[in-house]
Amino acid sequence: MLKIDFNRENIEKCLCTGCPVQKENSCIKDQVQEMEEISKDIDIDTGVMIGPDEVPKLYCATGKTKCNNLHTHEECQCPQCEVWKENDLEVRDAFAYFCVNGRAVECCKITNDEEDFDNKSREMRRIYYTPI
Ligand code: SF4
Ligand code: SF4
Repeated sequence: MLKIDFNRENIEKCLCTGCPVQKENSCIKDQVQEMEEISKDIDIDTGVMIGPDEVPKLYCATGKTKCNNLHTHEECQCPQCEVWKENDLEVRDAFAYFCVNGRAVECCKITNDEEDFDNKSREMRRIYYTPI
């Protein structure tokens, strides 16, 4: 079963921050600024945390952004991301743009069937690695 964790490691790998779909959006810019301010002031003792839905990235794990008017005609960066590759999201038929489509487990025709998954992996290796 596909499960993408909302953790620091995946946040650091995520490419959403620089993505043209969201980077000029004023609501997203506010969230980025708020996240930076909170992480600067974070007090380990009081355990101040920021909720996943306030973090303007890792949408494949957390779901749609609360912000509107994203530039969805621009190219989603997910297929270049390590989280995308590690979770075989292409083989699982994910169509990215998780910021508007929702979490990977909800928005995509996720392949959980092992046999189907193996067949798709083989087909993709054939497409990408067959010498011309
Ligand atoms: S989910 Fe895709 S389209 Fe949305 S911000 Fe992240 S990289 Fe860009
Ligand atoms: S697959 Fe997309 S939403 Fe998920 S971590 Fe990578 S860039 Fe971010």
